[in-house]
Amino acid sequence: VEHYRSYRKYIRERFGRAVLTIPVNAGLSCPNRDGTKSVWGCSFCNNQSFSPVWDDKSSVIEQIERTISVVKKRFNAFIVYLQPFSNTYGPLSVLSPIYEAILTIPGVVGLAIGTRPDCFSEEKYEYFQDLAQRTYLSIEIGIQSAHDETLSLHGRGHSMEDFRQCIQSLSTRGISTIAHVMLGLPPETEQMMLTTACEIASLPLTGVKIHQLMIIRGTLMHTWYLQGKVECLTLERYAGLLSKFLSYLRPDQLIHRILADSTVEKGLVAPLWSAEKLKALQFLNIFMDKEGTLQGSQCRKNKIKNG
Ligand code: SF4
Repeated sequence: VEHYRSYRKYIRERFGRAVLTIPVNAGLSCPNRDGTKSVWGCSFCNNQSFSPVWDDKSSVIEQIERTISVVKKRFNAFIVYLQPFSNTYGPLSVLSPIYEAILTIPGVVGLAIGTRPDCFSEEKYEYFQDLAQRTYLSIEIGIQSAHDETLSLHGRGHSMEDFRQCIQSLSTRGISTIAHVMLGLPPETEQMMLTTACEIASLPLTGVKIHQLMIIRGTLMHTWYLQGKVECLTLERYAGLLSKFLSYLRPDQLIHRILADSTVEKGLVAPLWSAEKLKALQFLNIFMDKEGTLQGSQCRKNKIKNG
C-alpha cells in the first residue's frame, strides 16, 4: 500500500533511472546567523547534525566529482543539493556562477537549493525562472510551522506571510518548491501541526520534507531541554502525528522525507530513535499500514466540506 506520493519514485519515473542526490556545501552563510537578522540562528539549528557536508571546505565541483568517482558504477544521473545554510543568500553575481558550474558536470540532471524565504529578489526570481527551463530545479524552503508565534519563539526571523509570498513568486514562474516542516516544536499542539499541513496544502508547493524535532547539542533548544522546557516525541507519537499530517496534505504533493536522522557523534541528544533510521522507518511503515494512512484523505474531505 502506498501511504504517500514518494518523491524518490517520482524522480525515478521522470528520469527513467535511479538518480542520486549529492549534498554539497557551497560555503554560503545565513542571514539568521551572520547578524543581518540575528547571530543566534534558529533555536534548533546546528547544521553539523543534519548535513553531512556542513564543514566541507573543498570546492563544490571537487565535492561533486569526489562523490561521483565513488558511485559511478551504480549511478549516472545526479541531483546536486546545496544543503547547509541559505543557498540563495548573497548577490546573484556570486550565486549564479556556483549554480552554472554545477550544471556543466556530466551526469548532473538537476539542482535542489535549500534556503529561507527572505533570501530572494526580483532579479533572483527571474534568474531561477530561466534556470528552471534549463534543468530540473527545486527550491527547498524552511518554514517548520505555519504559526507566526512558533516562528517567532524559535527565532526564525521571518513570518508565514514571507513564506507564502515567496512560494507564490516561485511557483508562478514555474519553479518547483519544497517546504521543510518540523513536528513536535514546542509548544505546538496536534491541532496547530495539522493546521500547518492544511496551510501547506493550500499553497502551490510541489513537495514537503517532514521531520521530527531533534535536540542537538549546543543549540538553544538543548538549553531549553536541559531546563525541562522541551519534551521530545516518542516514535509512537511521531508516527501518529505524521500519519495525520500526511492526510491533510494535498494528494499530489511529493513527500521527500518522513523522518530526520542524526547521530550522537554529530550532536544528537534526543530523541535517540532518530539515530536508528532504518528501524524508525520500518516502525513508521508498519504503523501507517495499520492505520490505513492515506495522503490527502482529509484534505479532500475538507474541500468537500468547505464546498
Ligand atoms: S535559517 Fe537554516 S541555517 Fe539559518 S539559522 Fe535557521 S536553520 Fe540554521
